[in-house]
Amino acid sequence: MEEIKVYNTLTKEKEVFKPITPGEVKIYVCGVTPYNHPHIGNARPAVTWDIIRRYLEYIGYKVKFVQNFTDVDDKIINKANAEGTDWKTISDRYIDAYFKVMDALHVRRTDVYPRVSDHMDDIIHMVEELIKNGHAYVLGGDVYYDISTFKDYGKLSGRKVEDMLAGARIEVNDEKRNPGDFALWKAAKPGEPFWESPWGKGRPGWHIECSAMSTHYLGNTIDFHGGGSDLIFPHHENEIAQSEGCTGCHFVNYWLHNGFITINSEKMSKSLNNFFLVKDVLEKYSGDALRFFLLSTHYRSPLDFSDDRLEEAEKNMDKLKDVI
Ligand SMILES: [Zn+2]
Repeated sequence: MEEIKVYNTLTKEKEVFKPITPGEVKIYVCGVTPYNHPHIGNARPAVTWDIIRRYLEYIGYKVKFVQNFTDVDDKIINKANAEGTDWKTISDRYIDAYFKVMDALHVRRTDVYPRVSDHMDDIIHMVEELIKNGHAYVLGGDVYYDISTFKDYGKLSGRKVEDMLAGARIEVNDEKRNPGDFALWKAAKPGEPFWESPWGKGRPGWHIECSAMSTHYLGNTIDFHGGGSDLIFPHHENEIAQSEGCTGCHFVNYWLHNGFITINSEKMSKSLNNFFLVKDVLEKYSGDALRFFLLSTHYRSPLDFSDDRLEEAEKNMDKLKDVI
């Protein structure tokens, strides 16, 4: 089989890809939280991994590809409360919306799209194992991961445990052993959806789902794990701590992260009002043109989105079609 090289965020080097099982590739990519229509930042990893997957298949690999939906999340619950409906109605609606625009971008479906709500048993089992292994502790109805117990914590992001402060996405609980300890399980607040667990009614923290679902479908060690570079810390760092702390096996051989999308050279953000939804872009440009544009820059580099560049992509796409 053709030799390929990939840049691995874990080693910070370009490495020759060696599959765990000859002829096969196991891929897990972090998916979206379905609380709104997908924005173009969601389209980039989808198109990038569609190409990587198609290429691996083209050179002869049998690919197993898993991408999750985070269908249990504060943003979904808030939206459901605002609309006076339940979380499932919201997540189902935006999962449909996700498939609709990804189909327009010719992104082939992955083999499985697991949802957090379908994997509570796997998640609870993994948290129980982490408590047994001494990596996690119970605090009231919550369970936290003690990052000081995992000697390799920080190996992906390059952060040092001693420098770690409570981040914005980490709930602050003064009784935690270390400020960087993160929630594996959270006690349910009134009015929230909940699941029964050995620690009472609650729901999982954000990071544990990917460790649990990756292990469920692909085994303890996988070939590729992907996602946006904004997920390196804390999400992927925490996935490593959870998975390796639970199974004792090396979790991921090659970590691949795609770059950010900027809008007219500015960071995309809701507050700057430059947050582009894929469905709105597709009203002006074809799916082929948007896909062509997303692939016009190396996946690790930042990609600048502007009408000029989209128009250019549309023209180039038309030229290609004429030639064909
Ligand atoms: Zn994830």
